[in-house]
Amino acid sequence: MAILAANWKMNGSLALVQAFAETKMHFAHSAHELLFFPPFPLIQALQQAFEGAPSLQVGAQNVSQYEAGAYTGEVSAAMLAEQGLSHVLVGHSERRLYFGETNDIVAVKALRAQAHGLVPVVCIGESLAERESGQTFRVLNAQVQALAEAEVQLRDGLLLLAYEPVWAIGTGLAASPAEISQVHAHIHTCLAELVDESDSTISILYGGSVNANNIEAILAAPHVAGALIGGASLKVDEFSRMAV
Ligand code: PEP
Repeated sequence: MAILAANWKMNGSLALVQAFAETKMHFAHSAHELLFFPPFPLIQALQQAFEGAPSLQVGAQNVSQYEAGAYTGEVSAAMLAEQGLSHVLVGHSERRLYFGETNDIVAVKALRAQAHGLVPVVCIGESLAERESGQTFRVLNAQVQALAEAEVQLRDGLLLLAYEPVWAIGTGLAASPAEISQVHAHIHTCLAELVDESDSTISILYGGSVNANNIEAILAAPHVAGALIGGASLKVDEFSRMAV
């Protein structure tokens, strides 16, 4: 069983929720664990749409680094937990790029999530320039190291990692299964150096232009626990084909 996480980003509407509601029994019988990350205003509607299908889990796309208070526009981990959410995306490359989220901010967000019983899905990955200059492992090491230094619990079940090379997101250019396996193996090695050997079993998802045509090969690659899917998760038919 793999984990398939649908990141709707700033897309979707009540009509899309309705379309997913109509397909919920198909999703409920998926061989995979399905997580949905709609924008905040659609969370409650999607939870209601999935009533009676407890295997379909709903999460948020972002969480504040602050606990509570005068932070207009922010949403706290406590609020997400009270809403009955299980997971939250943290440190997506779009948040890092457009909203200035550093490795340290991402780590604090992951800590906040864990403190409220949410599983952070922490996104890491290198840009094209970093890959082309041979910096991929250095960048990933720093991203994982920041989590360890902030004392984020790097334990299976308490955190998920998503390896999302920035150059593969929304470009149609997915990393190859061999490239993904190599990087995931490296991340596991990095984790093993940071936590007890027995705890270095954290699931690592791959994200970046996953679609119905390439998902099978990606999920079959060694060290791949699942996929984080953006564009293709907005198409009910295509996501249905992936979630068989
Ligand atoms: C994402 O945004 O996390 C993502 C993987 O997007 P896409 O599948 O569209 O590349």
